[in-house]
Amino acid sequence: MPQSSQTSDAISLGASIPVRVPPAGRGSGLPASGPLADRWGRVATDLRISLMDKCNLRCVYCMPAEGLNWLPTASLLTADEIFRLVDVGVRDLGIEEVRFTGGEPLVRADLPHIIRQIRSAYPHLPIALTTNGIGLDKKVDALLKAGLNRVNVSLDTICPETFAQLTRRDKLASVLAGIDAAAQAGLSPIKINAVLMRGINDAQGHQLLAWALEGGYQLRFIEQMPLDADRSWTREGTITAHEIRDSLAAHYDMVPHGRPRGASPAQLWEVFPLGSTGQLPELWPQALGQVGIIASVTEPFCSACTRTRITADGKVRSCLFSLTETDLMGALRGGASDRELANIWRGAMWTKPRAHGKDQAGFEAPDFTQPDRSMSAIGG
Ligand code: SAM
Ligand code: SF4
Repeated sequence: MPQSSQTSDAISLGASIPVRVPPAGRGSGLPASGPLADRWGRVATDLRISLMDKCNLRCVYCMPAEGLNWLPTASLLTADEIFRLVDVGVRDLGIEEVRFTGGEPLVRADLPHIIRQIRSAYPHLPIALTTNGIGLDKKVDALLKAGLNRVNVSLDTICPETFAQLTRRDKLASVLAGIDAAAQAGLSPIKINAVLMRGINDAQGHQLLAWALEGGYQLRFIEQMPLDADRSWTREGTITAHEIRDSLAAHYDMVPHGRPRGASPAQLWEVFPLGSTGQLPELWPQALGQVGIIASVTEPFCSACTRTRITADGKVRSCLFSLTETDLMGALRGGASDRELANIWRGAMWTKPRAHGKDQAGFEAPDFTQPDRSMSAIGG
């Protein structure tokens, strides 16, 4: 993996592993203290930590059929290391919420322990999980007891055959059982993340929405991004937010939700029965619910991004599309102090690209380059 370009000073801390500390206070503009700011005026407060690059599905927009070369266990952040980074993030860098992702975070047997450790230090910190839902039915009680607040489950279709085609595994029943168990256990709201793929499930969005409305789940469609391991993404192949809105509008009345989007990537729509909102609003029936559309490709929200990511092997990624990473794991294992860890992290975020891994045009740039790591290895 490439090293971050802003890590210019190498020092040695304790053991033999060199720790690279960014050049704070030497005219770079990088603040020597404070939160995770960047050169474009954004501040990252939302931490995504990937717990594991492995996964038990092989979604076509994410993983190749044969899987990837998994990280060796010794290269994964341990529970104690994760706690240390969260502690530095919350105490010194203004992190306000933590989300665990992967790969598949439920594959980590120590997930309840990881959550419990953080919860006992930070009783009010929102802790969330993004999961494919497999096995959630057996684990949700322990996760809740440990202190988990929220869950997002990824589900692209409720048709078993389409599910098997998209994920290359016949596991729909297990995902549905996981979602049901999470609802029974009282996790709320449960958000469902869905990606529509042309020619596979793009005609099924309204069925998924009907199912989500019925179950009281908050469905969000995400435009497919060029982060697939197969590198077969094309802009023309992407089912756009516009297409998603149009296809849902053939089955429901869709009214833009009044609340400003803010840092939330999802544009929200109120969903009403078809043909019910032609009259004065006073005469409309109650909304059936809401649906979100995350237009990462066609209507990007990079200028409002508040995310900072740490990969399962302890690298800071300032952006999903960043072509550089900054090693925190080496510093951690090399004996860095909390202050040094905070400085390295701050330095990594300071050079966060303006949009889609670039300072100039994002996806539109002629030299747009897909990062080496695919979504499952970054942590979506
Ligand atoms: N395995 C877990 C899951 O599927 O929820 C967590 C990791 S997964 C990488 C996180 C999210 O990234 C999922 O909601 C998935 O749909 C989304 N994702 C993966 N590849 C994507 C892509 N190329 N474009 C858009 N979203 C993608
Ligand atoms: Fe696994 Fe999630 Fe990627 Fe699907 S999207 S292959 S469930 S990491």
